[in-house]
Amino acid sequence: MRVFKFGGASVRSAGAVKNVGEVLRTQSEGPLLVVISAMGKITNKLEELVEAYYHTKETKKQLFEEVRFFHQEITNELQIDEYDYYEVDNLLIELECIIEKKRDESSSYDTEYDRIVPFGELLSTKIVSTYLNKIGYKNRWIDARNFVITTNKNRAANVLWDESVPLIKGSLEPLIEKQTILTQGFIGRGLNHKNTTLGREGSDYTAAIFAYALDAESVTIWKDVDGVMNADPRRFENAVLIPKLSYNEAIELAYYGASVLHPKTIQPLKNKAIPLYVKSFLDPSKPGTVILENASRTLNETQCYIVKDNQSLITIASKDFSFIVEDNLEIIFNAFNTAGVQLNLMQNSAISFMACFTADEIKSSQLEELLSDKFNVDLEKGHTLLTVFNYNNGNNELKSIVNSRVIALEQKSSSALQLLLRD
Ligand code: ADP
Ligand code: ASP
Ligand code: MG
Repeated sequence: MRVFKFGGASVRSAGAVKNVGEVLRTQSEGPLLVVISAMGKITNKLEELVEAYYHTKETKKQLFEEVRFFHQEITNELQIDEYDYYEVDNLLIELECIIEKKRDESSSYDTEYDRIVPFGELLSTKIVSTYLNKIGYKNRWIDARNFVITTNKNRAANVLWDESVPLIKGSLEPLIEKQTILTQGFIGRGLNHKNTTLGREGSDYTAAIFAYALDAESVTIWKDVDGVMNADPRRFENAVLIPKLSYNEAIELAYYGASVLHPKTIQPLKNKAIPLYVKSFLDPSKPGTVILENASRTLNETQCYIVKDNQSLITIASKDFSFIVEDNLEIIFNAFNTAGVQLNLMQNSAISFMACFTADEIKSSQLEELLSDKFNVDLEKGHTLLTVFNYNNGNNELKSIVNSRVIALEQKSSSALQLLLRD
């Protein structure tokens, strides 16, 4: 069997959903499980809704109406009939009931997030599944929360493989022989039976989870680009396609922030030597990229550029001039962990520690609170992190990017050069 994953861009409009139907009709052969994300940018909209709901803001009603209108427009255009529409409508009513009630004061922000944001995936898959059945592409909708069992950690749940794999294998293996299965990316269920999510952009990872459990022959992730390129083609007009990558190279690219793949996606596939294809849903005849086990380096001389915007630089210096060694580092890392900050680059000197992370007001003030007793903490927004993978000296492209910008941090390893540039 094979696994296909369609992301937000591939189902952002009625026309896009029709194109997914076309891709499935022409590209799927044999047993298939399809993972789908929320439509377009709906997850962002639902995040705004959570924020408004949690802080009892007036805007929550308007935001909900926007979510409803967006999905209704698509179902209308897909000519989904009244009988089938009622399943979509039920989800909208359920969401409306949640946001209209006063929230439980004891419930955390992250729990409420995981209660509300999964509606994006639930709505999207209901609509696509119904449309596909209507055009004769028979499929069965399943709820991923019954199969992807996770820790209870909201918004960043870890998969519990020992629980999930037997459920997926036991229930879905016999079903998949009969018809295509269609399910949601990104969402799961904690051991406490409440919704969880796997972190933003987590649908690629869901595809890998199902593929691992079902010993898939391959996974294909359908994107709005030709495949994995040596840079984001939206930023670098000379970006070129990388036809083949080893698992380790793909893990490194994703780790440094190449947003075309979720970083956790590769490991489960690598463990079972399942190849991952990244292909264009706009032109499925193009070869795309294949990621597989390969002892020799497949990238050879190709340099890859990865850009992360919106970085905050934090400088932490001990107030008592004590060295930034094990004991102080322990305090500093505990603070990052407690605030849920993920560091993208770090460096330390005798009496200071510097690092960058994606700007976040709430996390930043929590960090200041946790550290300001013992340290002087300085936070500076407005940086961009540039990573050049497979770096070699005398690179002209790099010179033109850096130009006269101030380099706040610089780090070089055997495989990558990282520069934190002031905007
Ligand atoms: P999805 O629809 O699956 O959520 P994403 O939008 O997350 O897809 O990922 C596709 C986007 O990733 C592309 O539109 C492209 O702008 C961006 N991207 C970033 N880095 C790369 C890269 N190295 N190769 C290809 N695309 C990249
Ligand atoms: N819908 C989720 C997000 O936008 C998951 C995904 O698209 O992969 O982050
Ligand atoms: Mg995405």
